[in-house]
Order: sequence, then structure tokens, then C-alpha cells
Amino acid sequence: MKTFWRKLVEKFTPGAGEKVDWEALLLEADLGLALTERLTRLLSDEGLTRKPREAEERIRQELRRILTAHTPKVANPERPEVILLVGVNGGGKTTTAAKLAFLHGKEGKRVVLAAADTFRAAAVEQLEMWARRIGSRFVAGSPGADPASVAFRAHLQAEEEKAQLLIVDTAGRLATKSNLMLEAGKIRRTLAKRDPEAPHHVWLVVDGTVGTNALSQAAEFHRAVGLSGLIVTKLDGSAKGGMIAAVQEELGIPTVFVGTGEKVEDLESFDSERYVEEFFG
Ligand code: GDP
Repeated sequence: MKTFWRKLVEKFTPGAGEKVDWEALLLEADLGLALTERLTRLLSDEGLTRKPREAEERIRQELRRILTAHTPKVANPERPEVILLVGVNGGGKTTTAAKLAFLHGKEGKRVVLAAADTFRAAAVEQLEMWARRIGSRFVAGSPGADPASVAFRAHLQAEEEKAQLLIVDTAGRLATKSNLMLEAGKIRRTLAKRDPEAPHHVWLVVDGTVGTNALSQAAEFHRAVGLSGLIVTKLDGSAKGGMIAAVQEELGIPTVFVGTGEKVEDLESFDSERYVEEFFG
């Protein structure tokens, strides 16, 4: 995240002691409509609209409050913990699957990576290449196979190999959006047949540079599959990251990781304190 906050304050402050256009400013910071309206009302009610310093402090407080730490579901140690990754193509889903496998592999866990996109051969090859590089197990289906059956088989294999973690990468083609959602739902239900606790996490991977578009993507996927977390990628670029707070405020979905580059180690656990500090530059 770049320092954008100061520039926005400058842009939307007509002059010293004058009223700042908080609504425009907060929208441009990608905080989304609902959070922007609530914060704008709050600043106005508390008489802070002409006091940028105090207003900033108040927003900071609110963001901290919204982004309270989440408690992830704890998996039964006897069975593989399952992460289902969903999201539209280009968001960084496959790269993130590899990053997560790398992170957990480093902790000594045995990881199985499953490519449940049986439509896009390139996506399967990409994940296979990552798996080889990281040293993870890899499961894929033949082209055109049912993605849910790939997930099912991958879970079976993960259990046989006593893997601690199974990461399922899914398709993300937007042209057939409703199919995509149905498919993700079916994968979810199929995994639950193998283990009622699975998937333990359903995380949406979104490109941070799309701004508040991330919010509508999250709402849609949440409705279709039920999300338990968000991973925002490409925060090393021009993304402002406001949607992290917007998604938490509007949908109650916490951000769990952020992607900060193209390399396999460029994934960080989401740290709300650090996020708030960086947000204001
Ligand atoms: P998918 O279609 O969602 O599976 O997306 P990919 O994993 O293929 O990623 C799409 C592009 O985004 C690739 O060029 C990745 O290297 C790049 N990418 C993924 N995550 C990040 C990130 O955190 N930062 C940057 N700069 N690029 C990323």
C-alpha cells in the first residue's frame, strides 16, 4: 500500500479550517458506501468535519474496532485441514495456493495441492509447477472432469498420506459466473461428505487493485458458497486496501492474509494494527 491518505486529505480539503469532503475522500480510499456513510455521519455528529487531525484519529479508532482479530476454526488434528480457495481468474488464486502451501510446508506440514479447475489446462500446469518447486503433493483431474470429484479424490489422498493440509484451487472463469458459483458450492458439499468439518476455510482471493469491486465479488461468493475469510493480493502495487475494512464492515468477513508480491514467500498474515498504520501512511 502506498501513502495515499495524505494526498486524499489535501485533495478534499478546500482550505485551512474549512470543511473536508469526507464522503468523497473515504470513497476514494475504497472504504465502500456503507462504511463511508457511517463514518461521514459519525464525523459530522461529533463535529469533526473541519478538523482533519482529530477526524483521522476517529477513523483510525473505528477501523481498529472493525478489524478485531478473528479466531480461525481449529481442525481435528487426526484429519487434514482443508482450505478451499475461490475467486475470479487473474486475482492471484493459484499463486496464493502455492504461497499457502509453501508457508505451511515451511512449518513442517505435509501439504496436498489440488487443482479443481479441470477446464483451464494452463491453471493446472501452473499449480503443478508450483507444487514441484515447493515439494508439495499434487492432485488434478483429467480435462473436463467434475471438479468436485477432483476435490473428493484429493481429500482421500491427503488422508492416505497423512497430510495435515489440503489446499483446493478452484476455477475462476467469469464468463459462466453462475456455473462457477454452483461449482464452488458443489465442491464445498463434496468435501463435507468426506469430513463434516471440511472445508475448514473458504477463502476468497481478490486482487487488491480492483478497489471496491472486491466488495461485490465478496458479496456474490459469500451468498453462493459462504466465505470465512478474504485474501487480498497485489497490495505491493497501487492498491489502497480500503476494501479490507469495507468487506469486514458490510459482510463480516475478515481478511486472513495479504499478498505482497509474485514470489512464493510474498504472503503475510493479516495484521490489523499494521494495516491501520499503513492505511494512514
Ligand atoms: P488466478 O487466475 O487467480 O489463479 O491468478 P494467478 O495466481 O495466475 O495470478 C495472476 C497474476 O497475478 C500472476 O502474474 C501472479 O504472479 C500475480 N500475482 C498474484 N499475487 C500477487 C501479489 O500479491 N502481488 C503481485 N504483484 N502480483 C501477484
